[in-house]
Amino acid sequence: MKMSQIVIIGGGQAGGAAALALRRHGATGPITLIGRETLPPYERPALSKGLLLGETPFDRLIVLSEAVAAEQAITLRLGTTVTAIDRAAQTVTTDAGDVLPYGTLILATGGRGRALPGLAPDGRDIFAIRTAADAEGIRARMARSRSLLVIGGGWLGLEVAASARKSGLDVTLVEAGPRLCGRVLPPVVSAILADLHTRRGVDLRLGDAPVSLTPADGGVSAHLASGAVLAADMAVVAVGLTVEDDLARAAGLATADGILTDPAGRTDDPAIFAIGDVARTPHPALGTAARLESWQMANLQAEAAARAILNLPVPSAETPWFWSDQYDLNLQILGLPDMAVQPIRRGSPETGRGSLLWLDPAERLCAVIALNAPRDIAMARRLIGTGLVIDRPRAADPAVPLKDAVFRAA
Ligand SMILES: Cc1cc2nc3c(=O)[nH]c(=O)nc-3n(C[C@H](O)[C@H](O)[C@H](O)COP(=O)(O)OP(=O)(O)OC[C@H]3O[C@@H](n4cnc5c(N)ncnc54)[C@H](O)[C@@H]3O)c2cc1C
Repeated sequence: MKMSQIVIIGGGQAGGAAALALRRHGATGPITLIGRETLPPYERPALSKGLLLGETPFDRLIVLSEAVAAEQAITLRLGTTVTAIDRAAQTVTTDAGDVLPYGTLILATGGRGRALPGLAPDGRDIFAIRTAADAEGIRARMARSRSLLVIGGGWLGLEVAASARKSGLDVTLVEAGPRLCGRVLPPVVSAILADLHTRRGVDLRLGDAPVSLTPADGGVSAHLASGAVLAADMAVVAVGLTVEDDLARAAGLATADGILTDPAGRTDDPAIFAIGDVARTPHPALGTAARLESWQMANLQAEAAARAILNLPVPSAETPWFWSDQYDLNLQILGLPDMAVQPIRRGSPETGRGSLLWLDPAERLCAVIALNAPRDIAMARRLIGTGLVIDRPRAADPAVPLKDAVFRAA
């Protein structure tokens, strides 16, 4: 079947994965991917971990290299920004003034580091952490710095803090909320992370926020709401994501902090899909639509949209999964823990080896946070959704494999 052109806006992980999935599933027509960054589509997780530490070369992060794109007949237009979508004419306009027609359009525009007033990154002493260019800038500045100020106690701020401590820098981390990762973690896990970073020498300032961050004496100076003044050689601002849904909004698509889609990524325009961090998609595990900013969702949504575009069956939703690496801690989250529910403690999560297990009202496993316990995640993947009822005392016993901590019919 000859197909009309598929245009993908956004050359990040989701955009690159969608282009590859379309070809893998048999798309025969032209595919053009337009990306603002000059680099080919790549994965971001290592930017705050291995790449900052110089352990992971950039080449290992590439999702869709220029060579593979050429081989797969995927046209890459890198260093190019789409400035407008004309839904009636089915065209997109680029900042180079080109107008490209589309039969199907995929929006994979992700987001950019949230900017706070008075805390603008300058790429010299003050950095955001979203792109490979940001990470390379941070790494180069870290190499000639002795101290780092991290603004934001979410995943990225904590990973940057851990990487900087491992590189020998003095690190101060300022978080406006009362605890670390307060939006996504229960207090017990926030406390474990706070303890870990404090033991590793990070000066944690919780419940305080910078009101200004300015270059000073070859470094930076931060004035906090409490009146404290902090000085460091450099700063990284990691205070969340501003979703890049402006194009979609200007084109009249339904948006609400993200582009609204169905589970296959369809927007309210049948010719337009949205995937990855920019998409607000219904999740059965949550019972509502959400933007789950993760490596897993970028891949799954790319796959789902590619299949839907090619009229292939779309697989049912997978349990959301996320990981973070800080020092020697590997933390994984499977499912969406309900903070109002008391979890089962398995092993010793407080000392960095064990899991917290969440059961639904029918006593079935629905979410896990595992600290250096990847086997619990592997087994939980096989249990969640099976309908098996958990035997609480056995689930709490780390000597019992999680898969055996269930009531089975005699
Ligand atoms: C430092 C860091 C560490 C992370 N670590 C983890 C982790 O450990 N585990 C995990 O699960 N997830 C992690 N994530 C999250 C994960 O990387 C993201 O969920 C994923 O990158 C989302 O991919 P995306 O393609 O939707 O968006 P993005 O990767 O943001 O890509 C969007 C692309 O679109 C481009 N673009 C935007 N607007 C336009 C336009 N108008 N025209 C052309 N191009 C445009 C942007 O420049 C960008 O290149 C991390 C993210 C970061 C930044």
